[in-house]
Amino acid sequence: MSNKYSGIGASNGIALAKVYILKEEPIVINDSPVKDIDSEINIINESIVKAKKDLFDLKNIALEKLGEEKAAIFEAHASILEDPEMANEFVSLIKEKNCSASKSISQVAEKYIALFKGMEDAYFQERAADIKDVTERLLRYVLNLPVLDLATISEEVIIVAEDLTPSQTAQLNPLFVKGFACNVGGRTSHAAIMARSLEIPAVLGLKNILTNVKLNDLIAINGSNGEVEVNPKDKKVWEDLANKFKQEQEELKKMKEQPTITKDGYDKFILEANIGSPKDVASVLDNGGEGIGLFRSEFLYMDNDHFPTEEEQFQAYKEVVEKMNGKLVVIRTLDIGGDKKLSYFKFPEEMNPFLGYRAIRFTLDRKDIFKDQIRALLRASAYGHIGIMFPMIATVDEFLAAKNFTLDCKKELEKEGHKVGSDLEIGMMVEIPAAAVNAENFAKYADFFSIGTNDLIQYTMAADRMSENVSYLYQPFNPSILKLLKMTIDGGHKHNRWVGMCGEMAGEPDAIPLLMGLGLDAYSMSATSILKARSIMSKLTLNETQSLAKKALECENTSQVLELVNQLMQNK
Ligand code: PEP
Ligand code: MG
Repeated sequence: MSNKYSGIGASNGIALAKVYILKEEPIVINDSPVKDIDSEINIINESIVKAKKDLFDLKNIALEKLGEEKAAIFEAHASILEDPEMANEFVSLIKEKNCSASKSISQVAEKYIALFKGMEDAYFQERAADIKDVTERLLRYVLNLPVLDLATISEEVIIVAEDLTPSQTAQLNPLFVKGFACNVGGRTSHAAIMARSLEIPAVLGLKNILTNVKLNDLIAINGSNGEVEVNPKDKKVWEDLANKFKQEQEELKKMKEQPTITKDGYDKFILEANIGSPKDVASVLDNGGEGIGLFRSEFLYMDNDHFPTEEEQFQAYKEVVEKMNGKLVVIRTLDIGGDKKLSYFKFPEEMNPFLGYRAIRFTLDRKDIFKDQIRALLRASAYGHIGIMFPMIATVDEFLAAKNFTLDCKKELEKEGHKVGSDLEIGMMVEIPAAAVNAENFAKYADFFSIGTNDLIQYTMAADRMSENVSYLYQPFNPSILKLLKMTIDGGHKHNRWVGMCGEMAGEPDAIPLLMGLGLDAYSMSATSILKARSIMSKLTLNETQSLAKKALECENTSQVLELVNQLMQNK
């Protein structure tokens, strides 16, 4: 049987390591009455000790890797298990009602969860999630089910999973996690974006990899072309590939101190990075990034147990801006909804969440939540050069509503004596076809555009970016997409606005010559793609990219466009 699989290369690099199967077994409570009461009580006591040890270990790991705030969460979880009252309730149920250990825990948990959920105060309501988390861990020990803590992985592994949630990826330590291979997802899914920001290879959309690996298997993945081999026949082939990739990376490092300049001396293109957290800034600087073209602020919200306060956000934005030392930092306001969920907020059920109540549609409706973020951004703008960017703008009215709200907050802050940066820019994502087509009008009001091709392609092709079944329609080189890019760039330039791109297309080597020819000003990509982009630009003249773009716009389909790019790049 073949042990080779083919998926979507979602984050470059080669890795070979032991499989770590990330698969949570379902918890099944034992409802039958028990006879051996002492044994059930023992099971509970032993499980409490094990779960407590985990939580203290996690606390220490979090202290090192994630900061005091995250560590405090694990400490609070451990303290729930130290509460004698709860332990007494487990024991009473076993003794008085002959409940099994698992039944007693689930009953007590349900009681406390309902109690906290029913409280007025939001702080206490959020504690319900803590009780659920802790008691589930306890139940896994009681039922002898594996307890998976990604943060505690301490040997080299490749994670194999159905999918990885943003909070799971946030726990990964790239020192040990060498890559991941998932059944679902594509180049623009969040697991892919996180893999690139952690600088580890990933292959997604493998459909059935999870059922084809077992504990102690070895797995090799190629994040550039999507190839995967379980228990490789010839390990040396993979080791050679990994070495070759490493050498190429070393070679590219030489571009780090070089300016971004075309072969014929044009030096106005800017290469920037996309980040999801202040922790990512180090890699941006290490890879020669000239700015941050997209800070996905939603990660501050998703990797949290409450809406981050104005002060918490201010500190995060200020840290990024200060570290970037005067270089432009574009921070996108909350882009939540669709596939991006919050554990502490329930979005209304909708048939098509990607077309629904999300991003700017949500924040314009919930000004209370929006205000904390806008105030934090404006305050941070006093410490460097910030661009505030609104996601999912479809109409000029939406943009003006968001911009005017920002200007009102600015007035309010100045009245309170706060400073706001004098070079603040207010711009928007162009990721809905309606905005691309109407770019010229938006450009009257927006200081800049940043094209979000991940969504622009999804909405133009009517193809869910999360679905591997229709991933063939993710076609950045389709002439219909190129035409929308041209409209956006020309529309922005008509009013002297700079136009950038922060979708994945900006970092694709084959796309760069076309984008140069179309006149794109700023290219924002995962930090690890920057040096390659700089090297490509240095080999091209403006003239040749412009004639490439002109011809590409006349093509009928993707393959014709790619053929033109290949012809140009062949001898570079
Ligand atoms: C995009 O849509 O291209 C984009 C950059 O935003 P996200 O991938 O976060 O939706
Ligand atoms: Mg988007």
